[in-house]
Amino acid sequence: MPETLATKRVSLSASTLKLYLECPRCFWLQLNKKIVRPRGPFPSLSSGMDRILKNYFDTYRQQGALHEGVPFGVKIHEIATDPQGAYEVFQAGRQVLAGPMPASSDACGFCGWAKRQQAL
Ligand code: SF4
Repeated sequence: MPETLATKRVSLSASTLKLYLECPRCFWLQLNKKIVRPRGPFPSLSSGMDRILKNYFDTYRQQGALHEGVPFGVKIHEIATDPQGAYEVFQAGRQVLAGPMPASSDACGFCGWAKRQQAL
């Protein structure tokens, strides 16, 4: 049987489903056309800091040691989870992928900027 968008197997990570919730069009473009979302300067700054901190703490992990800044007696908090809600988002994302390209999000300025450039 030939593979179609409706039968294609895809892996949807939590971050990919977050992208779906933020903008179904970017989600659709990334998974169906391999076109990734444009990045602004701020996400790259925070991801750079995240990488530096991760590398720093990874040196302790490789030694099997805890960083001296990790306090003992840390309180453990329960985090509420919503497996049914996550499943519904997964199913909705799956259906979006099999359909036509959805509209862009009003919350993101990139597509609006591109439309304004084309109108000039
Ligand atoms: S509005 Fe456009 S650029 Fe912004 S997230 Fe959606 S598809 Fe991507």
